[in-house]
Amino acid sequence: MTVLRDRDPHLDGTSDLAIAVEGLARRLPESLHSLARIAYNYRWSWTPGGRELFRQFGAHRFSLSGENPVRFLRDLSERSLLEAATDGEYLARVDMVAQVLDADLARPARTDLGSGPVAFLCAEFGVHRSLPVYSGGLGVLAGDLLKEASDQGLPLVGVGLFYRRGYLHQRVDRTGWQQEYWIEADPEMLPVVRVSNSDGSPLTVRIPVWDGLLAAHVWRTDVGRVPLYLLDADVAENTPLQRWVSARLYEGNRAIRLAQYALLGVGAVRALEAMSITPALFHLNEGHAALASLAVASRMAGLSNHDIGDLATALKSGRERFVFTTHTPVQAGNETYTREEVLAVLGSLADELHFDREALVELGRVHPADVGEASGLTPLAIHAARSTNAVSARHESVARGMWHEMFPLGATDQVPISHVTNAVHLPTWMAPPMRALLTRHFGEGWERHASDPAVWAGVEAIPDEELWEVRCEQRRDLVAMIRRKVVVDRLARGEDIDFVQAGADAFDPSFLTIGFARRLATYKRLNLVLHDPARAMNLLDHGQPAQFVFAGKAHPLDDAAKAIAQRMFALKRSPGVDNRAVFIEDYDLSVASTLIAGCDVWLNLPRPPLEASGTSGMKAALNGCLNVSVLDGWWMEGFDGSNGWGIDGEVDPDEAAQDERDAATLYTVLEDEVKPSFHERDDRGIPKLWLQRVRASMRTLGPKYCATRMIDDYVSQVYAPR
Ligand SMILES: *Cc1c(COP(=O)(O)O)cnc(C)c1O
Repeated sequence: MTVLRDRDPHLDGTSDLAIAVEGLARRLPESLHSLARIAYNYRWSWTPGGRELFRQFGAHRFSLSGENPVRFLRDLSERSLLEAATDGEYLARVDMVAQVLDADLARPARTDLGSGPVAFLCAEFGVHRSLPVYSGGLGVLAGDLLKEASDQGLPLVGVGLFYRRGYLHQRVDRTGWQQEYWIEADPEMLPVVRVSNSDGSPLTVRIPVWDGLLAAHVWRTDVGRVPLYLLDADVAENTPLQRWVSARLYEGNRAIRLAQYALLGVGAVRALEAMSITPALFHLNEGHAALASLAVASRMAGLSNHDIGDLATALKSGRERFVFTTHTPVQAGNETYTREEVLAVLGSLADELHFDREALVELGRVHPADVGEASGLTPLAIHAARSTNAVSARHESVARGMWHEMFPLGATDQVPISHVTNAVHLPTWMAPPMRALLTRHFGEGWERHASDPAVWAGVEAIPDEELWEVRCEQRRDLVAMIRRKVVVDRLARGEDIDFVQAGADAFDPSFLTIGFARRLATYKRLNLVLHDPARAMNLLDHGQPAQFVFAGKAHPLDDAAKAIAQRMFALKRSPGVDNRAVFIEDYDLSVASTLIAGCDVWLNLPRPPLEASGTSGMKAALNGCLNVSVLDGWWMEGFDGSNGWGIDGEVDPDEAAQDERDAATLYTVLEDEVKPSFHERDDRGIPKLWLQRVRASMRTLGPKYCATRMIDDYVSQVYAPR
């Protein structure tokens, strides 16, 4: 062990990782040693054939481990391992995945961004279902960005929090009401390692929070070439209250949340410094990490013992090192705190950084001098960063309207907020059947050029039969998953046996399948689907049959969102509904991938203009699923009239009237366009016109909404040295 440490001058967790890999390898037969290296880097999850290496030992068993390869390999019986160790065909596959990993890690990094990596700071990361530190779109976007940065050899490190209890798990009770529970993770069993000092003790950072010092350890997990560092306050020297700071993502308690933001922002700066990582740039992905700017500013201003620095001036000196992405116009995403709340949690932090406490409160306001205004992290991030960007063209103008008073300019269109539209990591989200089909037609390695429209033009040449077969295969996989899950969910809820039975033959693998799944926030308007229950029921009509799958979690404190889901459950026993409409509990990354890949139609019904971007529709498009969506966020720029369907995105102050109108449009589009076009078949049973639309969707949306394009945009428009 000491030998390894001597070789590692950086103490950034590299040697800790090597030790963990070695420890796991020792439990495996010699010929399977590379499995340990594969298990400790999430690269396997987007390498073709990677997941199959573990599913080989039993897909269900792998799933029981949460698809966590470290736990899974540790739990495998000696007999299974020995069998695999002499299976030549299996060993060849292990070797192939290991080679992809090694070659990827050995590639030289891009050097066009100057010295030092981009430090990407975010409150959540959705890298994989086995790492429960994400809740929804923001986290999945962050995870996708890390993966794409890795694919492109962009020097980048992620920093977030290690929520031991992650985000909520969801059960729905028999009345249709959501119940939450949390599961505590055992880090020893995850592909993460605790970063240690040269003497082997845990690297510890300390941050003043409340009236004491909050200590945190640092965990590292590897996402291809990109290390992701997660700060963890669950350490012995903290009080029980302090230890709770990193217990749960989006904790309901406001003071705890503020403490989380201090840990995330200031902790990130201190952890990176302790590991001798000097970022060229800090990317604040959403405002939660904005306090990082205070730590950097204090250092840049050279403040020490008895100084009290002027915070606004100091922030200016650090501005060139920060960029900020704002991700939502929704109030809950731009929380604010009273002066008293801020000072109670962050007062001692301001003292330690040698800033005036009141200045911190002021810089969280849109109008610093307005004592009646609450403080938030979004204004602080805007003050602190050299650039602010929104996440779609429409969101740019919405954000300009929201924050224009922070800029001393006349017109809203002069406000210096730009946009980089979100996108998704193609190798993660395109299901294997579709990816194999495109590789057959586009050629090996086409994914590297996925942002080039010329590559996607090739979908026009794919024969109907082949494209339709892939669509049907992905739908069959979805139906199989639904039948498995729905029966168990209904049994666990204590439903009547005939309702359980209906779940067993729920869904037909050939029926038009319509999906709606995302966080159940009220602005996402799941309620529109059932606005007119009779008309909604008619959509299931067996003449032109259709089936609906729903999924999503509500925030624990969001009773309004829970009530919408409950109203939906109330219809479950209506005739013809029990096996044609299902709710899948506990929506997460693994449910999402099967669901999105298998649906024919993906619904998104946000109340405009509240959807900053939305990303699940992009994942759908990559899989040949068509979008029916309100023209808000990404769809406002993605929809061209031929590649899906759009619902008017005008803002109407009369919300009830808007719901009425948008629901009517939704039903009309589904009744008059979607259903007839899906059911119009040629003599081979193929819906030619439908497939024409699928091709238009893939060809126009594929190059624009794959993360390759997004990273290109971030590099050229946001990260590039200026
Ligand atoms: C993509 C994704 C989201 C975001 O979906 P939106 O449509 O953008 O709201 C949320 N949760 C999971 C698990 C996802 O994969």
